[in-house]
Amino acid sequence: MSNSFDAIIVGAGFAGMAMLHRLRSDGLSVRVIERADGVGGTWYWNRYPGARCDVESMEYSYQFDDALQQEWDWTERYAAQPEILRYANHVADRFALRQDIAFETSVNAAVFDEEHERWVVTTDGAAGPEQLDASFFILAVGCLSSANMPEFEGHESFGGPTYHTGQWPHEGVDFTGKRVGVIGTGSSAIQSIPIIAEQAEHLTVFQRTANYAVPAHNGPLDPDTVADIKANYADFRAQNSLQNGAFGSRMARNDASALAASAEERQDAYEARWSDGGFGFMRAFGDLSINAESNATAAAFVRRKIAETVNDPATAELLTPKQTIGCKRLCVDTGYFETFNRPNVDLVDVSRAPIERLTPGGLVTGGNEYEFDAIVFATGFDAMTGSILRIDIRGRDGRSIGDAWAEGPVTYLGLSVVGFPNMFTISGPGSPSVLTNMIVSIEQHVGWIGDCVEHLRSEGHQTIEATDDAADQWVDHVNGVAEKTLFTGCNSWYLGANIPGKKRVFMPLLGYPPYVEICDRVAAGGYEGFAIDRSRQLA
Ligand code: FAD
Ligand code: NAP
Repeated sequence: MSNSFDAIIVGAGFAGMAMLHRLRSDGLSVRVIERADGVGGTWYWNRYPGARCDVESMEYSYQFDDALQQEWDWTERYAAQPEILRYANHVADRFALRQDIAFETSVNAAVFDEEHERWVVTTDGAAGPEQLDASFFILAVGCLSSANMPEFEGHESFGGPTYHTGQWPHEGVDFTGKRVGVIGTGSSAIQSIPIIAEQAEHLTVFQRTANYAVPAHNGPLDPDTVADIKANYADFRAQNSLQNGAFGSRMARNDASALAASAEERQDAYEARWSDGGFGFMRAFGDLSINAESNATAAAFVRRKIAETVNDPATAELLTPKQTIGCKRLCVDTGYFETFNRPNVDLVDVSRAPIERLTPGGLVTGGNEYEFDAIVFATGFDAMTGSILRIDIRGRDGRSIGDAWAEGPVTYLGLSVVGFPNMFTISGPGSPSVLTNMIVSIEQHVGWIGDCVEHLRSEGHQTIEATDDAADQWVDHVNGVAEKTLFTGCNSWYLGANIPGKKRVFMPLLGYPPYVEICDRVAAGGYEGFAIDRSRQLA
């Protein structure tokens, strides 16, 4: 079997699957390399109790094929992980994707061979190391796919099992009768803690930063609503794509300032959004992400809700976030704050006295030892750049991606890196990605990359790559947009602040609908900011 392809794609999550389908439909030979033994990416790995989407199911799905979206039935407002994984498998079967995916295989290295203008990719799978080559090298490795496992002293000494939410055992974990510690209070923790608490004999939650969460109000989908959406699915998708973040036309943003409303009007607006559930809360007013005073009104509302929900005032105070709301990614919960009223749940503040070490019996913080049968790391991911930098990628002149990004990721449009010809990142740093309904962003990138590849092939071009000027201007643009908001004012993973030593740069681009226009304009203008066939021009 030949090891030469038109395109090699790394990753078989929603991005890799869509990219494979597109390029194969255009007649390219494609090989996808996936570390897991199945498709689904995020939804393959994150099998922790309570894992579900927080963008509504009718939106968190592909739109590239109308028959697909008509035939698939979601059961809940926010689908749970097993259902989303079933959907990913359904897509793989329906479009016969598996035949072009090498599972249980990792990409360890990729080098651009300048003489032949091809990517040489080194993989490691069941058959051992292998080399493949292709004209196009596409990173669909995921923004949230490199688990962040803090390096606590004594980790290996702990006598019980440890679990990371992003690498959860397939057979599930039964915590019945167990003393469990959960480290972290981000979205994964907030989803899993209420369920673990119901099983465990005792649960201790270690919190470094209190987080805001708004209620999901999850439940079965109403068949009439589903029928209405399906009758006009294309319109529904188009309306959602026009929203900030590409989701939720049903709960569109009220553009007025929170400060223009009376206290009573604000309370009513927040209460209505809170009752509806989900991310619509942050759209109650138009300036909650840009004006600190306006933001404070929304934050105060949620803080009051926490105080009303949690019985013990000291625990309520500890659970009350101090940062601006939305600066760290907002969480969507089901019974999170209520869980701290259970007699078998404790909260421990590790903000001032960090976790010192793991011991054979548990862990130590603030000079106290806590004993556990199992510890759950809900400690998140080396987001946006982690899975890219873990591959030894070398472009022109043998320059590594690590060197190119030593001061933080530098891309053009979040799609292309200077000196790495014909390499594309799907929902890469510098694109809206994690600030959107990601399946919409993924499909937009897949469409743009597919069109670009088609253009090169039809015009007889070999390579395309970002130019220095365009990339520098793009990074300035991404930073400039972020600096006008409240997003840069806290220790979020958007900034890489969760990873010790990681360069602090705001990685995603705020502003989904305008981004699409920019990408379309660049393509229509003959790929402005890109050099096409640079080597030939130099020769
Ligand atoms: P992934 O799904 O992460 O897939 C990347 C794949 O690449 C993985 O399977 C990985 O194994 C593989 N891979 C990586 N490196 C290599 C390598 N070197 N060699 C071989 N294979 C490799 N987004 C939303 O919009 N809405 C939500 O509600 C939402 N909920 C989420 C819930 C959780 C728990 C998490 C962690 C993320 C959530 N996200 C959500 C973001 C989610 O990651 C995206 O929506 C989407 O699933 C990303 O798809 P992807 O294909 O880009 O990446
Ligand atoms: P996360 O948001 O980064 O949360 C990690 C948590 O671990 C934080 O509370 C963090 O504290 C804590 N932590 C990390 N290192 C620690 C240490 N050394 N000591 C103590 N605490 C430590 O990760 P996540 O919850 O996995 O979520 C990541 C992203 O995935 C989300 O923001 C979201 O985009 C997506 N996601 C979505 C859903 C959903 O609802 N659909 C569910 C899960 C994940 P600090 O805050 O102080 O850093």
